[in-house]
Amino acid sequence: MAEKLVIIGSGPAGWTAAIYAARANLSPIVYEGAISEENRLRGTLPLGQLNLTTEVENFPGFPDGILGPELMTRMRDQAERYGARIITEDIVSIDLKQTPFVMTDSSGKQTEAHSVIISTGASANYLGLESEQKFKNFGVSACAVCDGALPRFRNKPLVVVGGGDSAAEEGNYLTKFASNVHLVHRRESMSKASKIMAERLLSNPKVKPVWNSTVVEVVGDEEKGMTGVRVKNLLSGEESHIEAPGMFVAIGHTPNTKFLGDQLELDPKGFILLKDPFRTTTSVEGVFAAGDVADPIYKQAITAAGMGCKAALDAERWLAAKGIH
Ligand SMILES: Cc1cc2nc3c(=O)[nH]c(=O)nc-3n(C[C@H](O)[C@H](O)[C@H](O)COP(=O)(O)OP(=O)(O)OC[C@H]3O[C@@H](n4cnc5c(N)ncnc54)[C@H](O)[C@@H]3O)c2cc1C
Repeated sequence: MAEKLVIIGSGPAGWTAAIYAARANLSPIVYEGAISEENRLRGTLPLGQLNLTTEVENFPGFPDGILGPELMTRMRDQAERYGARIITEDIVSIDLKQTPFVMTDSSGKQTEAHSVIISTGASANYLGLESEQKFKNFGVSACAVCDGALPRFRNKPLVVVGGGDSAAEEGNYLTKFASNVHLVHRRESMSKASKIMAERLLSNPKVKPVWNSTVVEVVGDEEKGMTGVRVKNLLSGEESHIEAPGMFVAIGHTPNTKFLGDQLELDPKGFILLKDPFRTTTSVEGVFAAGDVADPIYKQAITAAGMGCKAALDAERWLAAKGIH
């Protein structure tokens, strides 16, 4: 028999959707992702992106902050308590052309569902350096809004890598805290960023562009974490050192939408396009999307959770309208 609702993904969006759907008696299944080496390397293990971080200081309800993995485990427990059924596998393919929808998981099992919420998140893109991996959460970050205000970055020089809108946004935000911001970019201008954002960043006296350059190594030690970066000028080949306790990599995010193939309308970067304003509806009726997978703009835990709530309510109303109880 087909399930009423399957939720794919296990970040704040997926668990919030599961809590609402379970309390509405939809008895949802949550595919939380598989525990595999591939997912570890891609940063898409169960419990989502917050499971990869330490302190979360901006999720309401935790005035003293909370550790990311603890917050996510609490969300999972809350969903389970209200009756969500959890399967620790990836959905590897889905057929949205037939109803009920049919999906196949990483163990080969097939599940049918009348409605689906996709909340598979997105992964921040990094440079791919071994040293960058070593200092993640110890100076290296991909989220200025999340980490910029941490004491280790205040009134210190910081490095931002990238030259598009993400870099402009992250850089502008960081100027509030940093003594100055070194913008390291492969090209000679921020040609990919919107003009107004680029101008705002580059006209800020705290910002020092380092054009035609790339970070080749993040430098630091066990005790202090990251202390600087080694930068290579791509034209001259010359290398230099920038002293900084933080590097914010702002080269975009990759949404986890590969398993969808071309069955849902996506934007050019692969984010799911939402069909109706303020809703979580997608280009296929009965399929809803929530969280970073459908949000190239805000990318925060609380916005993902809010979208998860909306998706569960949208799914519930859609099922009720179809007479599926
Ligand atoms: C290091 C770091 C620190 C951060 N700090 C903060 C912070 O302090 N405050 C804040 O608000 N935000 C922070 N963020 C951003 C925040 O984590 C994200 O905005 C939020 O987690 C997005 O939630 P989500 O539910 O959309 O999906 P995600 O958290 O991205 O989770 C989606 C999960 O779904 C699962 N999944 C993916 N594909 C499949 C599939 N095919 N089948 C089954 N399961 C699948 C995976 O386990 C994946 O991890 C941080 C992000 C990072 C990387």
